[in-house]
Amino acid sequence: LSADFANLARDIAVAVDAGAEYVHVDVMDGHFVPNLTIGAPVVKALRKATDAVLDVHLMISNPDQYLDDFIAAGADIITVHAESNGDTRAQLEKIRAAGVKASCTIKPGTPVTELIPLLPLCDMVLIMTVEPGFGGQGFIPECMDKIRAVRGAIQDGGYVCELEIDGGAKLANVADIVAAGADVIVAGSAVFGGDIAGNVRAFHDKFADGVKMAQWSK
Ligand code: ZN
Repeated sequence: LSADFANLARDIAVAVDAGAEYVHVDVMDGHFVPNLTIGAPVVKALRKATDAVLDVHLMISNPDQYLDDFIAAGADIITVHAESNGDTRAQLEKIRAAGVKASCTIKPGTPVTELIPLLPLCDMVLIMTVEPGFGGQGFIPECMDKIRAVRGAIQDGGYVCELEIDGGAKLANVADIVAAGADVIVAGSAVFGGDIAGNVRAFHDKFADGVKMAQWSK
């Protein structure tokens, strides 16, 4: 969302060359969230432009209408919102059946009890740490407890499931976020504002600090 849309391939190549592992694509439909961003045709174009993991976050009201398109476009991970329409379990099962990693997410106001029962169906879960829909927002501090709770549930259940956070990550807080239990950090404006490669490297350093501080391990 925070990259230069007229130069997406260039910005992504710079970030990936510097060590970014996932390319997080924020899909917005103007309905689930007020903004419109990009759809499956752009994901298809990105698939040709990069070998990095394409991590597609569907902030859309009707995933059932579009899952086939994003699967065909070459997404490696597809995240659906528990608050979207349709049967979330069936959506996750469909994504997995297509050989794509399945992920579910909740907005800041949705309790983790909506997410935890879905862990057996998920290869990743995403905790929104800002209200979805806009870049450049601040991390909501109360979300730290949600990260801890979901990490605990993943460990207790023995699930193979990554825990991603999305929103408000910056160099000043990323170590604490990792220490709380996240192992995939989405950073938009904090990476694409300014020196992209330098920002990615600095995030990796802070991530490593967080791993040292963490009370959990995979
Ligand atoms: Zn996102």
